[in-house]
Amino acid sequence: MTADGPESSGVAELTASFTALYGTGPDGVWAAPGRVNLIGEYTDFNDGFVLPLALPHTTRVAAARRTDGELRLHSADVPGGVVRLRVDEPASRSEHGWAVYPAGVVRALREAGHPVTGADLHFRSTVPTGAGLSSSAALETATALALDDLFELGLRRPELALLAQRAENEFVGVPCGVMDQMASACCTEGHLLHLDTRDLTTSQIPFDLTSLGLRLLVVDTRVTHQLGDGAYAERRSGCEAGARTLGLRTLRELPYDELPDALERLTAAGAHESVVRYVRHVVGDNRRVERVVALLEAGEVRAVGPVLTEGHASLRDDLRVSCPELDLVVSAANEAGALGARMTGGGFGGSAIVLIRERDADAVTAAVLRAFASAGHRPPGIFPAVPSPGARRLV
Ligand code: ADP
Ligand code: MG
Repeated sequence: MTADGPESSGVAELTASFTALYGTGPDGVWAAPGRVNLIGEYTDFNDGFVLPLALPHTTRVAAARRTDGELRLHSADVPGGVVRLRVDEPASRSEHGWAVYPAGVVRALREAGHPVTGADLHFRSTVPTGAGLSSSAALETATALALDDLFELGLRRPELALLAQRAENEFVGVPCGVMDQMASACCTEGHLLHLDTRDLTTSQIPFDLTSLGLRLLVVDTRVTHQLGDGAYAERRSGCEAGARTLGLRTLRELPYDELPDALERLTAAGAHESVVRYVRHVVGDNRRVERVVALLEAGEVRAVGPVLTEGHASLRDDLRVSCPELDLVVSAANEAGALGARMTGGGFGGSAIVLIRERDADAVTAAVLRAFASAGHRPPGIFPAVPSPGARRLV
């Protein structure tokens, strides 16, 4: 997939291919971005804090309203033709493949009582898929926003995000938290989204790296390890078990300064040692989000770097969701003078982020490429993370 071009050229192309597919033009075109998370990983299903930004890469959908109960779905990014369903017909991954994501959004909207009576949808994305950059949330959020407009549902952004998450949890079968959908729906240009996943309150934190001579790089390792499939759910149930043993509803309720005592109590109660590690990671990463926000508010942006690297160590050693390729990005970048680096997203492959001084961009990029070449890995994709707008209607 290519980098995003000017918005208008993509819209004309998408409109033309929609018309070729469905015989008439769309009612509109919508876009929803992928994201990277600066810090706060595996915290969103623990009612914790996260700090994502939207990427310039988006999933676009040209869409038209229908009233006859038909749902027609097409993606220019996957082989195969138009997937046809009835709006009240459950989609399955085995039968309908990728279309289970947008069909799941339709189902989530309808089950919430919203009168979605059919649609023709045609997608095209510049978000790399399976790279930990949330192409799935971009797909769901673009769908949800298009349907919200087409059927004049008047949903607020957090409601859209919750319905999109519900689609992924219940109808796709991925037990993700709400960060990705909230990032895609609620991020704004030039900002990080400081999100409290307990009540979905948000604040926009200015993140203008250019004026400070800084840059955030995304390094897409282009690997996905199979291990990731069950591991996410295992971390999630481990965290829930930890909270239960401590008599808490979620790990969010555990204050950072009570962590050492809580870890002792878990061990004394016979909790599995992995649960102790998971609790330490989640409570530590919640704290790191708050530290990073405080540093940003104080204008001490360079000091964010070491907190990112500390977060990576916690994901690698306590949560154990990293992999050799992600660890290599972090070590090679830091050795070449990066301010800090960490894996971002669910791990087991996917992407890392690297905070650098602008002037070190070439040296750090070259060092990461060299390290990958000498380890025999295929070259990673490297691009700057520019904080971009959240989901929106384009025409
Ligand atoms: P990530 O969200 O990190 O990119 P996921 O595994 O959660 O990875 O989601 C990737 C899946 O989402 C793809 O395998 C595909 O089924 C679906 N998907 C994402 N973007 C598109 C697209 N533009 N067209 C069709 N399917 C897509
Ligand atoms: Mg995803």
